Amino acid sequence: MQLNLDNFDKSIVVPFSTIDWPGKASMVVFLRGCNFRCCYCQNYKIWGAAPPIDVDGLLREIRRNRDYISALIFSGGEPTMRPNLLQSLAEEAKKEGLLIGIETNGAFPEVLDTLIDAQLLDALFIDLKAPLSDPQKYARIIGIGNANAYVEKITKAINIGCAALAAHKILEFELRTTLFKGLLSQNEITEMVNQFGVRYALQQGRAEMCVQRDLTTLTRDEIVELAAQCGRPLRIRTREKGDEDIC
Ligand code: SF4
Repeated sequence: MQLNLDNFDKSIVVPFSTIDWPGKASMVVFLRGCNFRCCYCQNYKIWGAAPPIDVDGLLREIRRNRDYISALIFSGGEPTMRPNLLQSLAEEAKKEGLLIGIETNGAFPEVLDTLIDAQLLDALFIDLKAPLSDPQKYARIIGIGNANAYVEKITKAINIGCAALAAHKILEFELRTTLFKGLLSQNEITEMVNQFGVRYALQQGRAEMCVQRDLTTLTRDEIVELAAQCGRPLRIRTREKGDEDIC
């Protein structure tokens, strides 16, 4: 481990969040590097190759926050691209009595499997970008040429989450999709939210924060309308009103 407390990069943590794991006070750790290039990414500044992380500094930050949080969430970037780091940080956080959550694009299901088997994961949040029945659309949104292999892996990751939740190996499993005007049709959204029967959140994308500059933010009312047409209870997440359950 590298001991470098003075130079600890505080930009990789949000010390306190109630948004990433609704209902829990969490600290969020952003692990750099991502295999996707989503048009609406807000964290594009950490897409690149991950530099060594000051693990001791990070653990010190976690312990400093311990009295104010009940969970640690790994986000990114794509945190499952760094499985060894992820596992060792999760082990240390568990020793502190923290719950562990992951926000992932689902591209590395084997990492999720390993963490669940090791009892190092309590909440799984997978971002679904487009219908899994349409790899070409998926590829366009995640900014790569061919998404066929990823669609298979993401499907596997979702099935791992469903099985783990059913077996009470994890506490929470949520699929999430970030919406912008015209990026996904009503039919596509309806298909996505009904495919797996698990909790699903439609999130309001913030166009002004995205890497691609020609996106348009949907209003809360527009997201309510999209959710209402889907035929099942959903959660929506907007800047106007936070989390709301729509029946
Ligand atoms: S998967 Fe997440 S971090 Fe990676 S490019 Fe897409 S939105 Fe950004």
